[in-house]
Amino acid sequence: MVRDVIIVGAGVTGAAIARELSRYRLSVLLLEKEAEPAFGVSKSNSGIIHAGTQNPPSSLKGWLCVEGNRLLREELAWDLGLDFARCGQLIVVFDAADLPELEKIKREGEALGVKDLQIVDRRWLDAREPNLGPEVKAALYVPSAGIISPYRFVYALVENAVKNGVQLRTSSRVTAVSRSEEGFEVTAGGQVWRSRWLVNAAGLYADEVSALAGAPTFTISPRKGEEYLLDKKREHLANHIIFPLPSATSKGVLIIKTSDGNPMIGPTAHDTPDKEDLSTTDEGLAEVLAGARRMMPSVDRSDIIAYFAGLRPASGKDFIIRHEDSVPGLVNAAGIQSPGLTSAPAIAVMVADILKKRGLELVPKAEFHRLRPRPVHLFQIPLEETRRLIEKDPAYGDIVCRCELVSAQEVRDAVKHGARTLDGVKFRTRAQAGRCHGGFCTTRIMKIMQEELGLRVTDITKRGPGSELIKEERK
Ligand SMILES: Cc1cc2nc3c(=O)[nH]c(=O)nc-3n(C[C@H](O)[C@H](O)[C@H](O)COP(=O)(O)OP(=O)(O)OC[C@H]3O[C@@H](n4cnc5c(N)ncnc54)[C@H](O)[C@@H]3O)c2cc1C
Repeated sequence: MVRDVIIVGAGVTGAAIARELSRYRLSVLLLEKEAEPAFGVSKSNSGIIHAGTQNPPSSLKGWLCVEGNRLLREELAWDLGLDFARCGQLIVVFDAADLPELEKIKREGEALGVKDLQIVDRRWLDAREPNLGPEVKAALYVPSAGIISPYRFVYALVENAVKNGVQLRTSSRVTAVSRSEEGFEVTAGGQVWRSRWLVNAAGLYADEVSALAGAPTFTISPRKGEEYLLDKKREHLANHIIFPLPSATSKGVLIIKTSDGNPMIGPTAHDTPDKEDLSTTDEGLAEVLAGARRMMPSVDRSDIIAYFAGLRPASGKDFIIRHEDSVPGLVNAAGIQSPGLTSAPAIAVMVADILKKRGLELVPKAEFHRLRPRPVHLFQIPLEETRRLIEKDPAYGDIVCRCELVSAQEVRDAVKHGARTLDGVKFRTRAQAGRCHGGFCTTRIMKIMQEELGLRVTDITKRGPGSELIKEERK
């Protein structure tokens, strides 16, 4: 069978492209090398839906960020039942001499189409952000910024794409691409797949996939960001996402509200040659703590309950989204550094448009399932609603994860919706993500996965082959 389009990479970029193409009468295959979608850069970021400020005025990423923000707020958040909260952002200055810099960011944001920007003084800030430190003098208020659960965003996109006919193949690393009469022959996961068009959304490895397809036209240079998650008892630390003035290479160390309640501080921004280097460091922690404490001095090292690093897949200063004329049929969506999470819906529309201009016929499906039901998360709903749910289905009253209030039924729902690993369950439900890091619930989750998937306990992994928790079962 020759498919219309093969997409490589089920991060937020590939998932958004798959969902966009699923509106049309096309056969689409989404190939992912990991055991589940969202196991690449898209799981390790700040989860901010940026407004579009802090991008160069004429940049592609600036324009796509503004448009992605709009699409998310006005369409996707509702259609896909996403955990999006429009909390707004503040870019603070510590010196009145920096006010012209804030004015410049405001002008550049407005030129890109960011709306309702406002410079606010200390009195305005005192009424809304009581934990700001004495050094903060003023800020740029950006109301259209918000937060989202990054992995649940990807799962929602993939789930809806699959509902609309996209085929997903995980554990399928693309290792070779050759030309055929119809277009491409792609070797992945021990099989050869054929397609007329090839879309490369392989994140950190997009340079290698493009080279495999015959277009070694760019390189990806990882830029590491370390992030530190604070205890939920600090949930009300900040009411907005708090930024300092950006530097030439990064938006700076931020205080981030997250959609799950725990505030987060970070990220750092340092180049690394290693695409697998997800280590956190003492230097990174010191840098993040110092940056956060300058904005909010009550942030304390003892508030930190978890940490991680992510690698921005950078290639120069902007995104690379183009048809490679040297390899007809190949479209690259590469160099998707920050704000790639925000921009993904707009990148998807742009890729569909490139394919159309190059000759792919986009005929809308008679029946496109635009809506996806919002999954139940007990930690997000009022007690009264929980009570009603338990009356209907007692498994919602069987609490598996005490730290994050996750029931057995939510774990079962996650498995039914595609979770195949312990991390997949964690990203979908938050079970194992609390202070005890799964000390109480991991064995119970494994039991549920065994029941739902008919697996042996030795088959259950943290994040795919090689990360099994149990070596052998005693008879
Ligand atoms: C620390 C940090 C903070 C950030 N904060 C934000 C933020 O707040 N807001 C924002 O908008 N953006 C943010 N970003 C940027 C954002 O996370 C990325 O732009 C986005 O996740 C990139 O998504 P992607 O799908 O292009 O890449 P990925 O998520 O990495 O997806 C690529 C996928 O391709 C797969 N793959 C690779 N090679 C192959 C192969 N050969 N065969 C098959 N599959 C393959 C990978 O396994 C992966 O799943 C941040 C990034 C970092 C690192």
